[in-house]
Amino acid sequence: MSASAPASTPTDDDARAWSRQAVQRLRQEAARSADTHLLRLEFPGFPGIGFYFKDEAAHPTGSLKHRLARSLFLYALCNGRLHAGQAVVDASSGSTAISEAWFARLLGLPFTAVMPACTSPGKIADVQALGGHCDLVEDPTTVHARAAWHAARGACHLDQFGLAERATDWRGNNNIAESILGQLAQEPDPEPAWIVCGAGTGGTSATIGRYLRYRGLRTRLCVAEPRGRAFAHGWHARYRDAGCSRDTVIEGIGRPRVEPGFLFDVVDEVVEVDDVASIAAAWLLEDLLGRRYGGSSGTNLIACLRLAARMRQRGVRGSIVSLLCDRGERYDQTLFDGAWLAQHGLDPQPQLAALRQVLAAGQWPGDAGA
Ligand SMILES: *Cc1c(COP(=O)(O)O)cnc(C)c1O
Repeated sequence: MSASAPASTPTDDDARAWSRQAVQRLRQEAARSADTHLLRLEFPGFPGIGFYFKDEAAHPTGSLKHRLARSLFLYALCNGRLHAGQAVVDASSGSTAISEAWFARLLGLPFTAVMPACTSPGKIADVQALGGHCDLVEDPTTVHARAAWHAARGACHLDQFGLAERATDWRGNNNIAESILGQLAQEPDPEPAWIVCGAGTGGTSATIGRYLRYRGLRTRLCVAEPRGRAFAHGWHARYRDAGCSRDTVIEGIGRPRVEPGFLFDVVDEVVEVDDVASIAAAWLLEDLLGRRYGGSSGTNLIACLRLAARMRQRGVRGSIVSLLCDRGERYDQTLFDGAWLAQHGLDPQPQLAALRQVLAAGQWPGDAGA
């Protein structure tokens, strides 16, 4: 060994070899994965406005959290925080846990998801089917503390809420924004008027908002939020201690607190959506696209139609892009189940009829002349 070689023990070398191999496995997984489709829709009531939906349900683990989970594992590995055989933990309302369980299995690591007990049974089953363990807590506000408890006992905390905003390379590396804009390149309006997304960790909105500025685009970013939840309250007041004033049944978005990854300054507008409208819109997506998507995709669709109606009123043409965030089958026993909906006092039928009217007429009831 030369005198200038770094001092290393066989154990250090083993650790680095494992880490190198783990990073390579993530790289291979990315190379095997195809990009997700950007689906185009047109509605008779909105001539001259193109709607595009990025189908993030098409990832191997069924949601946009596939991107985040890949980034979080890579971030932990490259920061030297994740080692061979180490337990991995995160707090998740479900989608992230499924993707993280999948990547943990890929790397041969034990995984625990801390989730609210009210999480859809389908998501819990998905995590377990991937070999993950679910640590269910009754009070959803305690998930972070519980994840920290696991971390204090040696687990690597992937920390989606703490790190989502920085684990993804917002300048490119085929992040979601770069992918969308590349796919739009041949379209009539390749620089969209709006991109609409939800905020759970805030990672997606942070990546898109930064990338739009980085590329010097005029595109505006709108966050679609269940009514009365923390991002909306916080964004309007630029207040990071904001809480929520209503409950929501929409999973993945509508957080009870302002998460560290919520970057208010890159968001141009927040549209608040009633749960029953989000659910009706999720049903409508099934009609339009022939497959089921989750509630947050419905929330996005409502916000798109709100913005489109405003564009139409002002005589503006252009494109609006949004996301289909996860697979609807995860909600077969909740948002797509009549008995469950009745039990929660939700009846999406009238809203669904109203939405069909919006697609046909290009305006919202009560918005005429506004
Ligand atoms: C996480 C999530 C979102 C929001 O994405 P973030 O990048 O975490 O803000 C939207 N919909 C679903 C289903 C999600 O799981």
